[in-house]
Amino acid sequence: MFSEQHTKQTVEFNLEARRKAFEKPRAIMGIWEAMELLNTLVDASDPDTDATQIEHLLQTAEAMRRDGKPEWMQVTGLIHDLGKLLYFFGSDGQWDVVGDTFVVGCAIPTEKIVYSDTFGDNPDINHPIYSTKYGMYSPGCGLDKLLISWGHDEYLYMVMKEQSKLPKAALNMIRYHSFYPWHRERAYTYFESEEDKQTLKDVLSFNPYDLYSKSDERPCAEKLRPYYEGLIAKFFPEKIRW
Ligand code: FE
Ligand code: FE
Repeated sequence: MFSEQHTKQTVEFNLEARRKAFEKPRAIMGIWEAMELLNTLVDASDPDTDATQIEHLLQTAEAMRRDGKPEWMQVTGLIHDLGKLLYFFGSDGQWDVVGDTFVVGCAIPTEKIVYSDTFGDNPDINHPIYSTKYGMYSPGCGLDKLLISWGHDEYLYMVMKEQSKLPKAALNMIRYHSFYPWHRERAYTYFESEEDKQTLKDVLSFNPYDLYSKSDERPCAEKLRPYYEGLIAKFFPEKIRW
């Protein structure tokens, strides 16, 4: 998975994936319906979780609720992996949906990325601009300007930015939750803007719930549904264009 992701995630692929994702809606579904569809995905090799998809989403949200986190954050936990619907929309495999993300269009900070030896066949590493430290960006430009490798994070971010009432912090939690080289290893700090100090705080406050709620007991979707439908109604339209 890593070597495929590291080989095929190029600038060209990235731009094309963004374009294709929003050419026309590929499904019109409410949030809960989307959760149920995602749950039909039985993928034992999903590196994100061994619970079912819906259990993982509910566990993340429930752990936040238990800690008294605000409603917007609970609902962010509830939906954060819905970008994996990409699996149903013609993705090529895991490499274009899941996995730690990195920046395309600039050099790979090799010491801060797992399996960084597998970028050898990525054509961008020989590109005159993309192979340089700052690549197509400039220092301090802000994370927002970077093309992050394509997958469930960026896709869901783009959907929610247009169609939800989620605050900026929530959108950033969604967008950067798999960006481990940045939020954990502290690579790419030279691209951060002043504002990104807050982005980092937000993403780090989200991360433990994604990681460690997995050991919690299995949530009962039907019992929890009324509570979460109430929250969903506050932040999302009845139907989302996926
Ligand atoms: Fe995820
Ligand atoms: Fe997750």
